[in-house]
Amino acid sequence: MRMVGRVASDHERDQLAAQLMTLPVNELVDVLRRVLPQYTEEGNGLRTSLVLATATEYEDEPDGIDVTLVAWPDRDYYDGGLGPDQGLWEDGDCGKCGTEVSSNAKRAFCPVCGSGCGLT
Ligand SMILES: [Zn+2]
Repeated sequence: MRMVGRVASDHERDQLAAQLMTLPVNELVDVLRRVLPQYTEEGNGLRTSLVLATATEYEDEPDGIDVTLVAWPDRDYYDGGLGPDQGLWEDGDCGKCGTEVSSNAKRAFCPVCGSGCGLT
């Protein structure tokens, strides 16, 4: 359950955002991995997760947008590291829940069900 603290000012949120914008994408993902799951809501037979996603638009397919959820790198597999410092180029489907995911890492965890995913 998320602990709700005091309300931050616009200035404080700007400062936090400016700090986050200095991070490479794999470090930003690692920060959000620590934050977004705290906003999961459960009850009445459902669970809603706050996740990070990518949306890819194609110039030659104006109606086609691919949305994939960003999977969290398997830090144990990378000896405590975050996986390669590259874009979110590794893709695949979660073997457990079938959600399409992408990550900077080939070994990552599904942000919905937490299952390990092997991406290519
Ligand atoms: Zn899953």
